[in-house]
Amino acid sequence: MSDSNRDRPHDKTLGMDARICRRDFLNSTLLASGGLLLSPVFPRQLLGEGPDDDWTGPGGVGDYRTANGNTAPVMNAAHRIRDHAFDSAPADAIDTGEVFDCVIVGGGVSGLGAALAFKTQGGEGLKCLVLENHPMFGGEARRNEFMVDGQRLMAPQGADHFQIPYPHSFIARFYEMIGLDIAEFKYQTWGSSLPEITLGRTFEQMPGPNGTWFGSKFGQNPSIWLTGASAHNPDNLPVPPAMRDELRRRRGRAHESAKPYDYPGDARSRRLDSMTIEQHLIEDRGLTQDVIRTFMTPGEGGGYGLGPDVLSAYCEYAFDDLHCLDDSAETGWQAFPGGNEGIARHMVKTLIPDSIPGPKTLEAVCRNNVDFTALDPPNADRPARLRLGATVVRVEHELPGQPEKSGFVWITYTREGKVYRLKARSAVMAGGCWTTKRIVRDLPASHLEAYRQFYRSPCMVVNVAVRNWMFLYKLGISGANWYEGLGSFTCVHKVPLFSTDQKTIGPESPTVLTFKVLYCYPGLGIEEQGNRGRAELLATSFQEYERQIREQMTDMFARTGFDARRDIAGIILNRWGHAYLSPQPGFFFGKDGQPAPREVLRNVPFGRITFANTDLGGAADHKVAIIEGYRAVGQILDRVLT
Ligand SMILES: Cc1cc2nc3c(=O)[nH]c(=O)nc-3n(C[C@H](O)[C@H](O)[C@H](O)COP(=O)(O)OP(=O)(O)OC[C@H]3O[C@@H](n4cnc5c(N)ncnc54)[C@H](O)[C@@H]3O)c2cc1C
Repeated sequence: MSDSNRDRPHDKTLGMDARICRRDFLNSTLLASGGLLLSPVFPRQLLGEGPDDDWTGPGGVGDYRTANGNTAPVMNAAHRIRDHAFDSAPADAIDTGEVFDCVIVGGGVSGLGAALAFKTQGGEGLKCLVLENHPMFGGEARRNEFMVDGQRLMAPQGADHFQIPYPHSFIARFYEMIGLDIAEFKYQTWGSSLPEITLGRTFEQMPGPNGTWFGSKFGQNPSIWLTGASAHNPDNLPVPPAMRDELRRRRGRAHESAKPYDYPGDARSRRLDSMTIEQHLIEDRGLTQDVIRTFMTPGEGGGYGLGPDVLSAYCEYAFDDLHCLDDSAETGWQAFPGGNEGIARHMVKTLIPDSIPGPKTLEAVCRNNVDFTALDPPNADRPARLRLGATVVRVEHELPGQPEKSGFVWITYTREGKVYRLKARSAVMAGGCWTTKRIVRDLPASHLEAYRQFYRSPCMVVNVAVRNWMFLYKLGISGANWYEGLGSFTCVHKVPLFSTDQKTIGPESPTVLTFKVLYCYPGLGIEEQGNRGRAELLATSFQEYERQIREQMTDMFARTGFDARRDIAGIILNRWGHAYLSPQPGFFFGKDGQPAPREVLRNVPFGRITFANTDLGGAADHKVAIIEGYRAVGQILDRVLT
């Protein structure tokens, strides 16, 4: 046992032994994180067979209790693909005897979008199956649930918010089809006798009074807060004078974020895609590397997982291509209580109407529990099925090396320790680049080369349920930013009324604070940054992260009455080994006369197989996920199924 996991003298004060949501399973005989941090060897000892193992940690309550991020069992199963366990077809695969018109690999928003496209556009009689490796659908659009002092609280595991679309757009019609009525998003109001402070509607929208915290990285021992007007004055920052000067000069120059090109693919956008964000900020905006790495990493690459020194500068603007009617954080952003899980739940309710009991209203779909038996009932004759806990390990054409002549593809998957296979007349690969490139057999060199140019980076979303947030209120803030330690921001926000019995919120109310932890190592290459982050994510036990969170929150908030032992009601870690696509220069429009890698995968089906997932779109957004799913199914209907 290493020091990092040994009980420490102040653990009791931090509340490490307190009973939190489903954490009474924990003991303190965990393995090291420090020594394993950079080890290329997967620390299997930490990975039990969860849920609730020492790595996965508690998953809360409700539908998602065994599906917090990539749990150890799901990851162990998936890593067998990486470890070449299925390089040859397993001889013991059990043939289920099933034949589907389309099998969709991946039950995230893109795969569910593909299933809806297939159901609604494929016509009568066609049947599809979604295979998803987690025990719950939604992919990165899932939620955590806590019960705190009798209140049911929800928070996102990943995807957070959606925007208001143009009223006659494809996405507006899609929302209508799945029963997502934006007009019904009315949020909690202030419910305290204390004076009101502004709260946002999502964990990423921070319209309220915010504070900035500076600790030992900035030489502040004890740490300090800058709040109110002082937070906006560079003169107050604990940084060297030259940096202060630079920040002072840059105040009020927000207009520089305006799109510096006319349309995607024109010469100016291609120039952006030929450089990193960091180069763009230095060359075009006159910032220094010091300021960028101190204050804008990971912020500038927030939707892409890594720092500005490795991402294409086009990432800064790629979200503009999504064309929302209102994408302003202030007025446009909307959120279900657990983020875009609400979109995924409505998609599944539309696909399989008895999957969530009750009517297709926002309230019923949000609050009623999933009927897991309705997703994939044996022998039922239905247009769409969703099989959970199924890790697809091989997708191959009937005739090896002859995709055009094959009448079907074999889909091989593992489930609860057994290997199965079934036939599909077509397949949509919606799981993401990191598994697709390994499980589709005989991928052409062009597709393999394209996938080689996809980098995904890790992320951990930590949800901390607190019994009240008086400690923030006493600082005069509802949101906070910082540039060291775990995460970089958090805030208190309201939730929509349909999701809760608590119609008001105040500093005395329990809430969930969400911390998004990115793993950026400026100066390292893009692949190295991702691998190093994953190594850290893999090697750190639940207990070690829990301790870090409790220590950091104590350092931040004890001065205003926060007591980790008393105030924390639950902690859930959602670890995503391959969370974000991290596009390098050239990703969007290609380089050296070569096509952009995503175009190779989007434009050309491989025999009976097409490719979806958000990563092909280049912006981490559910609209991209849905559009890529629809496009992939369109190719199957237009070119594959006879
Ligand atoms: C921290 C974070 C915050 C985000 N915030 C937002 C936001 O606010 N708004 C927004 O619109 N988007 C957001 N996104 C982007 C989000 O990723 C997309 O909107 C969308 O949810 C992704 O859907 P997907 O289906 O493409 O991928 P995923 O959600 O990754 O789904 C793919 C699924 O396929 C499964 N799978 C993979 N391989 C296999 C296999 N071999 N067999 C079976 N199953 C497999 C995966 O485990 C996963 O469940 C965020 C993403 C992250 C990581």
